[in-house]
Amino acid sequence: MLLKYPTQPIPIQEISVEKNIRLFIKREDLIHPDISGNKYWKLFFNINNYLEDKPKNPLIITFGGAYSNHISSVSAVGKLSETQTLGIIRGEELEKKWIDNPTLVLAKKNGMNFKFVSREEYRHKEKLTAILQQELPNALIIPEGGTNENAVQGIKMMLNNDTKDFDYLCTAVGTGGTVSGISEFCEDNQKVIGFKVVDDDSLQNKISELTTKRNFHLTDASYGGYAKINDDNIRFINDFKMKFEIPLEPIYTGKMMQKIFEMIDDNYFPEGSKILCFHTGGLQGIEGANTLLRKQNRNLII
Ligand SMILES: *Cc1c(COP(=O)(O)O)cnc(C)c1O
Repeated sequence: MLLKYPTQPIPIQEISVEKNIRLFIKREDLIHPDISGNKYWKLFFNINNYLEDKPKNPLIITFGGAYSNHISSVSAVGKLSETQTLGIIRGEELEKKWIDNPTLVLAKKNGMNFKFVSREEYRHKEKLTAILQQELPNALIIPEGGTNENAVQGIKMMLNNDTKDFDYLCTAVGTGGTVSGISEFCEDNQKVIGFKVVDDDSLQNKISELTTKRNFHLTDASYGGYAKINDDNIRFINDFKMKFEIPLEPIYTGKMMQKIFEMIDDNYFPEGSKILCFHTGGLQGIEGANTLLRKQNRNLII
């Protein structure tokens, strides 16, 4: 088994808030240095099942944008298992300048090959997937963000005895696999809140297909759009790190946490509520964000 069950429990830390509410964060980001947070669990069964079958000429293919945590994680899996990986990357223009992108530089160092495609081609990934699978029948093709049924099963591992005692379970939502798994496998009395960092109206239906439960609620936490970095959020992330010594990144966890604080201020949560949010990792993205911010002469993430 390449990806292993953790031998140490994943820590849950309390974040003190001023209301009569208790807020906690489960540090899934600490699970593996290179395959972090929810991506570890989303890849867990996809990768282990594939490699256990000992395919001939194994190859793992997947899709992602320039700063993708999923691309970074899959490249690390490739290195760890000495398996070829191919990343289909959104944006032809990156072909000439991927060297300026810390995520892609890291993925390349891990041995990943790239195929850069136009945004138009990327939008039609399903077509590309079908062609590739026909050409390369032994390859494992994992969808963007790693979301599929195996991923949802993997997310079950983020829930255990330690997470049962909370009224609300919170996670950032990109492609929806993580919130689906939490919804499917949490306790009957728990409420799930998904913080959408991408403004995508199809997510509600997509998630409804991946979980049989109707215990989840989606709220917008996109703050100007997917992967748009906002100065107010950077201030929030830097304050949060100074106060609680927990790093957040500006695409997912930083936006989720800022929104949770706003909801607490607005008395969304009844008094006495116990809230657990999942730190889904992605801290590799900070370097890429800072590269961009530096070019624009803006404040950096510390
Ligand atoms: C990918 C990612 C998410 C979103 O997970 P989905 O299953 O795609 O919704 C959340 N947080 C981080 C840090 C991620 O990298």
